[in-house]
Amino acid sequence: MSTHDFDLFVIGGGSGGVRAARMAAQRGARVALAETLGTDGLGGTCVNVGCIPKKLYSYAAHYADAAHESHGFGWEGPEPTLNWATLKANRATEISRLNGVYGNLLRGSGVTVFDGFARLQGEHSIGLATINADGSPGHQNFTAKHILIATGGTPHVPHFVGREHVITSNEIFDLEPFPQRLLVVGGGYIACEFASIFNGLGSKVTQLYRGEQVLRGFDDEVRHFVAAEMAKSGVDLRLNADVVDIRKTEEGLRVELEGGAVVLADAVLYATGRKPNVQGLGLDTVGVAQGAQGEVVVNAHYQTNVPGIYAVGDVTNRVQLTPVALGEAMVVVDQLFGAAAGKTAREMSYDFIPTAVFTHPNIGTVGYSEAAAREKFGQVTIFRSEFKALKHTLSGSSERTLMKMVVDTASDRVVGLHMVGAEAGEIVQGFAVAMKAGATKAVFDSTIGIHPTAAEEFVTMR
Ligand code: FAD
Ligand code: NDP
Repeated sequence: MSTHDFDLFVIGGGSGGVRAARMAAQRGARVALAETLGTDGLGGTCVNVGCIPKKLYSYAAHYADAAHESHGFGWEGPEPTLNWATLKANRATEISRLNGVYGNLLRGSGVTVFDGFARLQGEHSIGLATINADGSPGHQNFTAKHILIATGGTPHVPHFVGREHVITSNEIFDLEPFPQRLLVVGGGYIACEFASIFNGLGSKVTQLYRGEQVLRGFDDEVRHFVAAEMAKSGVDLRLNADVVDIRKTEEGLRVELEGGAVVLADAVLYATGRKPNVQGLGLDTVGVAQGAQGEVVVNAHYQTNVPGIYAVGDVTNRVQLTPVALGEAMVVVDQLFGAAAGKTAREMSYDFIPTAVFTHPNIGTVGYSEAAAREKFGQVTIFRSEFKALKHTLSGSSERTLMKMVVDTASDRVVGLHMVGAEAGEIVQGFAVAMKAGATKAVFDSTIGIHPTAAEEFVTMR
């Protein structure tokens, strides 16, 4: 019998932390989880200010196009307008419901949930700062055989004059009033997604990216194609552009760019990356090694240099995606408490992680870009198809779809699959299974398509 208060103490109630706590408790471990936002904030970034509210707003943005495009299919009548307050309120209700679901899942599994900010005090010791019922600060100490750091990340905004006037993705969901003019800075997932979303919702969006093309790291053709589609749908995308300063004026926020151009905006969203959430965590007190960005450094078993302390998810600053944090959490639980009955211990593979960017149109991608594949495999064969989706033959939309496949010529294995088009994430998820299984182009060719779909293009490319 352990002399510690808990077998596992999880710091952070986001994607990775909740999954680890729940699974460990289901294996019979005595588990505690601390969440600084309290039980009302369970679910972390993804649930509160990330994937879920973002996708809901992305759906909302699509309705503008849907209403407009319906005329080509015979629908008549005035087009609806957006009630921003209703969208925000309905989103908040759904997020609260999800917070409650997470709380129930944890309590139902037997996890002790603490509202408070946790801090490492030793290899097996945690201090918890809480707020008492009368509002005064409280403090509790606990010991645990294992500690899991799953504190996620937080938006990073560089320093410049006028920084206090900008918002991040944390604030955008509840922005008041609706920004008629939105300036987005950055060219990554968040910048591109919110530029698309607010453009769809009715803002006049300007997006600034400091480099040659947005979405560095994605397939070059995909980057150019989605940038062109976003521009076509109304986003004023400015490349090789950066902010000098931002001032508040009577006309709105006056943003001066390098080169002297000026953009006036009601809100400025900085989406310039995220940094690991480690402030006040006590890493240095305990001697947990950190990387250049402050991230917690872990080995292949998610163990830090302090043997009893582990870390998963965004705080390790590797692949910042919810399913990755979930996968890592389950591997840690299997390692510490054994696999579920009748199952073998899970392993995490970082190869062929599929991902989607919820721009309009969406990007879905898995595996190597053309450039990365050439570097890795030498000779590759490229298959591509660009077309107007069947729906748009009547909708009046000029949106186009791009599908691209990268094949390692020597082995015939499909090593990259990329799509820009409606529901690209939904489509690529299925193909990712085939690619994990090592499917060759010959296997794709021998697969019968589903007609008429866009997805069938991937099995008919010649
Ligand atoms: P988090 O979910 O960030 O959870 C960490 C939790 O720890 C937080 O609740 C925090 O309050 C708590 N915490 C921090 N410090 C302490 C402390 N000292 N004590 C107690 N609690 C603490 N990923 C996708 O896969 N698909 C998407 O579509 C997607 N969209 C996104 C959109 C946006 C706008 C953002 C910002 C992210 C998005 N992501 C998406 C990324 C995804 O949200 C993260 O990868 C995921 O949430 C990481 O999970 P985590 O458990 O590591 O951390
Ligand atoms: P990213 O790292 O994806 O993008 C950051 C962007 O900001 C890059 O374009 C970068 O440019 C630019 N940038 C960085 N520093 C500066 C600066 N000082 N001045 C101007 N521009 C700058 O981060 P995000 O914040 O967009 O998202 C964080 C992570 O969250 C993503 O990487 C992803 O893993 C996850 N996420 C996933 C989503 C999904 O699955 N759909 C959606 C949203 C987030 P450069 O390229 O030149 O470095």
